[in-house]
Amino acid sequence: MAFLTLTRKIRFFPTLQQERILWDLSEKCRLLYNFALAERLQNWESNRARPSEERTYINYTKQQNDLPAIKAKHPEYAWVYSKVLQMVLRRLDGDYKSFFARYKRGDYHVNPPRFKGKNYFTTLCYNQSGFRIDTENKSIRFSHNHPSGVELLFSLPWLPKFKGKVKQVEILKDTRNRWFVAIISDEEVPFYVDNGFYQAIDLGIINLVTAVNIHGKFIQIQNRRPDKYWRKKIREVQSRRDHCRKFSNKWHRYSTRLRKMQQKLANQLRDFQHKISKHVVENTRANTIIIGALKIEEMATKKNLKTNHSRNSAQKTLNHSIQNTGFMGRFAEFLTYKAKKVGKKVTRIDEAYTTQTCCICGKIRHRRLSERRIHCDCGTTLDRDQNAAVNIMIRFLSQKPPVNGELSQNFLNSLHRNTALHCIPSLVDSMKTPVTTSE
Ligand SMILES: [Zn+2]
Repeated sequence: MAFLTLTRKIRFFPTLQQERILWDLSEKCRLLYNFALAERLQNWESNRARPSEERTYINYTKQQNDLPAIKAKHPEYAWVYSKVLQMVLRRLDGDYKSFFARYKRGDYHVNPPRFKGKNYFTTLCYNQSGFRIDTENKSIRFSHNHPSGVELLFSLPWLPKFKGKVKQVEILKDTRNRWFVAIISDEEVPFYVDNGFYQAIDLGIINLVTAVNIHGKFIQIQNRRPDKYWRKKIREVQSRRDHCRKFSNKWHRYSTRLRKMQQKLANQLRDFQHKISKHVVENTRANTIIIGALKIEEMATKKNLKTNHSRNSAQKTLNHSIQNTGFMGRFAEFLTYKAKKVGKKVTRIDEAYTTQTCCICGKIRHRRLSERRIHCDCGTTLDRDQNAAVNIMIRFLSQKPPVNGELSQNFLNSLHRNTALHCIPSLVDSMKTPVTTSE
């Protein structure tokens, strides 16, 4: 059996009393983080003055070994479960390491770890121990030594059934004061086996998924665009808010409404992506799903700036494009983990020129984004996204051992047989059934 690490974020509702305890514990963690960060910064300063052979660095182990002394001097730190305090130092260590790694790579814009401000809720991270999940009563209990003795026992009505072993549980809070536990577990998943079936997918903005399988059968799923529905409403509230005096009661009311609408839009987009990715993974016999590797910079700059829009609208398309690439990147992630869960695999392949190339004769021609259907000199007429999907499949098959082109040829033959390429357009239109999802 192979393993897959999954994180489940579940909302819970603490009582006021419990909330106060959580804040107390978080506050200790925050102070510890700031203290440990200050120590590291001082260390760095004093090292700078010394010749390189006399420098001594503070690492995680040193800071962890200091914990008992800190607790002896300031007993309040012992309120927090000891492993949680250690995890605070681990996080700092991680923040520090990733900062230096990026800095050394030449990324000088990266910010060093920062001190955490007063109202910052430090995520409480219970690693391996200190928590007990009751799957029967759907609740979770956390250990702590707060003098109030209030139990940190929360009911989790949305706790799903899971088979895996829980590694870590985190308590976190979002900016809208909602509380969550993040349960991180290792799930047993079946091993991936190449079963000789393949599904190539072109991801897009208009058609979220255009897939072709090894037998030349197409599936197309249109993207749902809740942003189109919300954009006008959001803009309206935004403009009304901007006519109010800043931070007045009315201004706050509109802000809240705006935030809620944006949240709703984000939820709808995510929900749709979850459903479609699940649908795609479950409804194919292929154990290998091939998608084009998304290249954000290329998509955003090259294609759109070439068109002769005014600068302003070019910038607008650019922003949209970046946003859309972000959405598609997330969709690709969903596909990847959902596939892994059932023993399938998502392979990424370089998708350069997959839209520009004619999939039948291989001729490359620049095509504008508005060209939804390609018309090649060789007589091929095909939906733009289907052409790309076929190209992705051909590229994948040609790289797959044995590399003798036989697989690609077989695929192209079955494509011809199944759809008799010249009549693809009519076939395609009849297959194109938009997916309806319940609200
Ligand atoms: Zn052609």
